[in-house]
Formats: sequence, structure tokens, C-alpha cells
Amino acid sequence: MNPLEPCPFCGGLDLRFIGGFASNDPVQVECLTCLARGPNTTSRYDEEKATERWNRRAGTPTDPAPPPELVPRKLEEN
Ligand SMILES: [Zn+2]
Repeated sequence: MNPLEPCPFCGGLDLRFIGGFASNDPVQVECLTCLARGPNTTSRYDEEKATERWNRRAGTPTDPAPPPELVPRKLEEN
């Protein structure tokens, strides 16, 4: 499995998988530093897919944006 890349928003390395409480729950990566979240996987618990989507998060306009309250302020300063 590919390693998780640092958070694209804050550079944080304190990352974890969230979701996946059941075998068909989506899972996503969350940054514990700024609470940014990567895209959900589609339909099942798949850390490898969540990692892949997290690592490609920046510059992937087809991925749904996180809820506004989860978008760090730093994003708006660019
Ligand atoms: Zn972060």
C-alpha cells in the first residue's frame, strides 16, 4: 500500500482513516491537524483506495469538495 502523503493543506503528517464502520461503509483520510478530509471511497472499506484518493486530492476537480466548514482558511489565501 502506498504511504499517505502529507496533508495538502497544512503539511501535517498526523493522518488517520475515518469511516468504514461496516464492510460497505466508505472510508476517507482525515488530517488531525487541520481536520481536512480526503475524498470518500465509493462504497466499501478500502484504505488503499482512500490513500490513493488522498494522495491525488490536490488538483482533482472531479472529486467532491469537503463541506465548507472543513476547508482550512489557508486554502483561500492562495
Ligand atoms: Zn492538514
